[in-house]
Amino acid sequence: METILLNNGKTLPLEGFGVFQIADQTLCQQAVLEALQEGYRLIDTAASYFNEEAVGRALRTSGLPRDEVFVTTKVWVQDFGEVKTRDAVLRSLEKLGLEYIDMVLLHQQMGDYYGAWRALEALVQEGIIGTIGVSNFYPDRLADLCCNAAIPPAVNQIECHPFYQRRYDLQVMKNLGVVPMAWGPLAEGGHGIWTHPTLEAIGKKHGKTNAQVALRFNTQRGVVVIPKTTHRTRMAENLAIFDFTLDQEDLSAIEALDTGHTEIIDHLNIDTVTFLNHYRIHD
Ligand code: NAP
Repeated sequence: METILLNNGKTLPLEGFGVFQIADQTLCQQAVLEALQEGYRLIDTAASYFNEEAVGRALRTSGLPRDEVFVTTKVWVQDFGEVKTRDAVLRSLEKLGLEYIDMVLLHQQMGDYYGAWRALEALVQEGIIGTIGVSNFYPDRLADLCCNAAIPPAVNQIECHPFYQRRYDLQVMKNLGVVPMAWGPLAEGGHGIWTHPTLEAIGKKHGKTNAQVALRFNTQRGVVVIPKTTHRTRMAENLAIFDFTLDQEDLSAIEALDTGHTEIIDHLNIDTVTFLNHYRIHD
């Protein structure tokens, strides 16, 4: 497993395992346990995925030493604010059954995220969180947060895959020293990814599947990937990406697939902003 250095001196595996849309606790626990057995050492959950307990149980069942697994969770918008965010992180800690969380991200660039950020900074000082970052932050707000934070965000988790490559966002993050992490690295199965002829031709050349080519594209440009699957064979497939290198011809062909826009969720759409601000994950 390749790793990447964060701006706080800690390292992050270049690939992890995501658990969005595995709300069933038994299924989630089994998937995370199998992922750990397959060799994943970074697990990405969120308070809004409603499966932090299952992730915690899988970690304990795996028998792996705590410091060998990097656990990430996220605070939802409803819980943004200096007091509310602290309470939300302590709730996540309890659900996960952990004494500290490796990384906590603010899920969206909405609401009182400055108050939330100050709460995360305090929790880092207390040793309850190791690393803090954000998710779905667009370049302007990320730059603004970096200008005003006492502890700059180490990571920004954004949608990123061959059909939405985010080249400008990645350049901004590089300049700010923020490591990009790709959610939806397989485009959530969209754009005909599994049978896409360009990915297929490149895969054939290297003896790899379309999924492996898509994931390698991101890791090769320093973007952490966290694919989700509940199928064990796919967990292994998605992890077997560090034994080949895409050449310039491959990269140019993939670069031509960029549509420059999302087909999953547009965070700049006013209706989306309103929906996410009003979306509640607890009473
Ligand atoms: P994704 O990883 O791009 O795609 C997951 C889909 O691909 C599932 O339907 C899965 O089906 C299928 N799949 C996975 N590997 C495959 C393979 N090798 N061959 C064929 N099908 C395969 O989408 P995602 O789950 O949205 O993103 C990954 C993670 O990013 C999430 O789990 C979550 O942790 C995080 N995320 C974060 C945000 C955010 O706002 N911060 C938003 C979305 C996601 P099966 O499970 O049936 O195999």
